[in-house]
Amino acid sequence: MQIFLEKPNAVRLATLPPLALYAHLPWCVRKCPYCDFNSHERAGELPEREYVDRLLRDLEGLLPSVWGRPLVSVFIGGGTPSLFSPDSIDALLAAARARVPLDPDAEVTIEANPGTAEAGRFRGYRQAGVNRLSLGIQSFDDAKLKALGRIHSADEARRAIAMAQAAFDNVNLDVMYGLPGQTLAQARADIAEAARWGTTHLSAYQLTIEPNTVFFSKPPALPAHDAAADMQLVVEDALGAAGFEHYETSAFARPGRRCRHNLNYWEFGDYLGLGAGAHGKISLADRVTRHERAKPPREYLAQPGKATQTMVAPKELPFEFMLNALRLVEGVPEALFAQRTGLQAAVIASKLGLARAQGLLEDRTSRICPTRRGRLFLNDLLQIFL
Ligand code: SF4
Repeated sequence: MQIFLEKPNAVRLATLPPLALYAHLPWCVRKCPYCDFNSHERAGELPEREYVDRLLRDLEGLLPSVWGRPLVSVFIGGGTPSLFSPDSIDALLAAARARVPLDPDAEVTIEANPGTAEAGRFRGYRQAGVNRLSLGIQSFDDAKLKALGRIHSADEARRAIAMAQAAFDNVNLDVMYGLPGQTLAQARADIAEAARWGTTHLSAYQLTIEPNTVFFSKPPALPAHDAAADMQLVVEDALGAAGFEHYETSAFARPGRRCRHNLNYWEFGDYLGLGAGAHGKISLADRVTRHERAKPPREYLAQPGKATQTMVAPKELPFEFMLNALRLVEGVPEALFAQRTGLQAAVIASKLGLARAQGLLEDRTSRICPTRRGRLFLNDLLQIFL
């Protein structure tokens, strides 16, 4: 029998998790037919200054909850953040640094679209303090790029990678597989070229059809389930052979180059969410909270600093923690559960036992680590913690 001095579902965080910052810039040149992100086709000049001011209002509203805590990473995502000028990004980062201490070795990423790439622009971001660039390449096949509604050609993607590598020593390429009409040989050629560029990081996603997209209402012919599964194996093998470590469902990195910002999400760290539709998570000594902002840019701009704040119910924390941690190929130390959720390890002991008995988690008590079967049947594994 276990005796608890305190209610087992009381949240008590002995230490607070690392803190990151996410800023969402929601505009794109054109909306891609497969995209379900909070991204909106630009109409005329972007209100860059006004938007950066709003991001800073968001930040100021969150400061009382995170006084003194340094940022371990910053991620400027979208949308297409590279539509914003280096001056605007500089203004954002300088003002953020003046309000929250930034770790000396903090990772600062910006996302860019090869269709908006310019060498001077990339150098400008670097000078503003960005030290990692993430490029949405998706494919090196012009026909596939057209089918995806991308605004750039394969050669423009190649030029953008060369420009990115000239300005940054830490570059991620996003690549997709399972594209309309794609063969295994075409998927292999795409991933082989992506690997040949020698960037530090690759993210390889399978194209899926999401609700509220053009592809949902007019679905293209995608490779069958088994063919897409074969492509996933080809991607994993090719990147393993090229020296990348597969550390999360879709993420591959050179040794020492894992994305610290995303790792913080997967390890259930905290993050401040700024911008239209952004959401964030802040832990306090006795609770874990979330905040979320209006999605439509116009509505967001009309409500400076406004966010919906909620407390995560303690009974939901085990599932939320697992939803993130179980994406990691090597899992997490078992002790991280209590550190991040503030709950006692006993809360999930029987569920861990069940998942291990079913062969979904590795039989190691020091780590919570999905087996290969657990990764393949991730939903079944997560159900155990619901
Ligand atoms: S460029 Fe990226 S964010 Fe913009 S619509 Fe296309 S996929 Fe979505």
